Amino acid sequence: MSEQRRTDQAGPPHRCALCRTPVGECGDAIEFVPRAVDLEWHDVTAGIPHSDDDDMDRLRTAVDAAGAGDAPDVAWLCARHVAAGRVAATRFDIDEGLHFVALADQGVDVTGRLPAAVRVDQWGRLLRRAMVDLAIELGNLDLERDDGAQETYYPMAGSPDTINPFTWTESWVVAGDAGTVCVYTERADWYSGPVARLEAVVMVTPGYDDARRWEIGILSDVGTMEVRPGMLRIEGEPSPYMRDMLARYGLASTAVGTPS
Ligand SMILES: [Zn+2]
Repeated sequence: MSEQRRTDQAGPPHRCALCRTPVGECGDAIEFVPRAVDLEWHDVTAGIPHSDDDDMDRLRTAVDAAGAGDAPDVAWLCARHVAAGRVAATRFDIDEGLHFVALADQGVDVTGRLPAAVRVDQWGRLLRRAMVDLAIELGNLDLERDDGAQETYYPMAGSPDTINPFTWTESWVVAGDAGTVCVYTERADWYSGPVARLEAVVMVTPGYDDARRWEIGILSDVGTMEVRPGMLRIEGEPSPYMRDMLARYGLASTAVGTPS
């Protein structure tokens, strides 16, 4: 994506989000972990026909008013700041990430501030942002999307009885002739408050070759969003794009394949 933006770019040179110097050839556009609001921007600018367009019309108007430009989870960083930015982008959203880079720039020792792994909630948002690219990787040309949400009685295995057994599932589907990409999250809340556990799953099903289907799921432990080694559940053979993504976010080493 960043290559695309760079070649399409016209007008004044990009300036570093931290120090305002022109980015130049050694700088780059860095894409941080998306926030919910960033995903709305990506949904709107992808321009994919949507099953429920009321909300999208509202968002499209907001994005048009703001001017398209770079995605709100992208920051241009100069040669001096781009390396720290790349590290920060694997764990932080754009606000947290630029703060991290600024601290590093001031000489603060930031090594202990970088989380060991992305959290399950962050991974779910990264999957949602990747859906269109995964669908294009499948060979789809025309895409449609369909979102859904429902509450169900579905107690998560191994959860204590302080957790509400009614879970909240949200699903996002991008589909075309060549196959379907589905991401869903399933959230269980404490009786006393929100988010006791979260599961994030991506399922990719090629249209004419079901044997090439793959799926990756991750379910948080009770009371934490932390990802630990061995938590990833993988069925089938993830695509090259997904293998790159697992490596980029430090999850490749935690991957334990499960024959389907
Ligand atoms: Zn800079």
